[in-house]
Formats: sequence, C-alpha cells, structure tokens
Amino acid sequence: MTRTATPGQISYIISLCESRQIDMDSYHGVELDENFPFSLVTSVLDYLKSLPRPIRPAASAAELTEGMYQTPDGQIYKVQAALHGSGKPYAKRLETETVDGPEGPQTDVWFEFAPGAIRTLRPEHKMSLEAAKAFGALYGICCVCATALTDEVSIAEGIGPICGGRSGSATQKARFQLRFAA
Ligand SMILES: [Zn+2]
Repeated sequence: MTRTATPGQISYIISLCESRQIDMDSYHGVELDENFPFSLVTSVLDYLKSLPRPIRPAASAAELTEGMYQTPDGQIYKVQAALHGSGKPYAKRLETETVDGPEGPQTDVWFEFAPGAIRTLRPEHKMSLEAAKAFGALYGICCVCATALTDEVSIAEGIGPICGGRSGSATQKARFQLRFAA
C-alpha cells in the first residue's frame, strides 16, 4: 500500500495553491486528493513555492483618509489610523440596537471594529460633513466618535464640540479638517 500524504500536508498544498492563485487538481498526472502519495509531497511543495506570488492590487486603504464613510448599502463606517504599530487605517462599523428603556424604546449606537471592511471602502464613499452630521443628529450622537450628545448646539449639529472643531486644541481642529476636507 502506498503511503499517502497527511491531511496537514494536503491542506498546506492547498494553501500554497491559493496564495499563488493557481487552480491545480493534479500534479504530474496524480490527483491531488486524500490519496496523494507521500513520495510526491516534497516535490509538489517545492514546485508551488517556486511559483511567484501574484502581485496584489495596491491596497485601496492607502488612499482612504480618516473620516466617515457610507457604502452603497447604507452602512456607515468610521475610518481611522491605527495609533500603535502599523499606522494603517482601519474601519469601524456603526452598529445600532433598539432596546426597551424606561421611557420606551431607545437606540444604542456605537462603532464596532470591522475586520477587513477597510478593503471594501472606496474614497468616493466618504461622507460630506453635512451627511455625517445628519446621521449624528438623527441618533443624537457625535458623528465622529458616537458619544451621546448633551448640549443643544451639538445635538443640532450632530457632532460634538471637539470632533466638530468648535473647541479643543489646534491638533484637534486640524483633525477635523482632515476628516472633512472636501
Ligand atoms: Zn465626537
């Protein structure tokens, strides 16, 4: 009986095929299935590793600036740069949940880390300040940080004083410009 490749070896072969973006169901006429012979494992692995990795399309995330985004399906995202490590932008998704409160239904709103979402966002999905403020005003939250708004001006504007550049340091005002630059 011929010794066959281990399941781990098979899955390694499959993952190499995926990373090289090739569709391979046989090697030297031998089908790549659970009966693939152990004697060919080293050879097929060497072959796959010798193939060039396809060049990935340039990450569109690099073009995304910090700010609020809305995809065509209506979902709202906040894009921000990682403070630690890579500094690459990442996305958080606006989540809402309506719960029964003491005074009837109330909507909780927050931003939740959305792994991978950054790759689906495009520069043209960026919201204008007006559009962002409109959803902030709708939920009574700051459209940048999702903090519940308390003062009348902020509620009407849909954006808090610091995120809205109405108060705070020069750095915070500069961040406001960055988020909502036309
Ligand atoms: Zn805010």
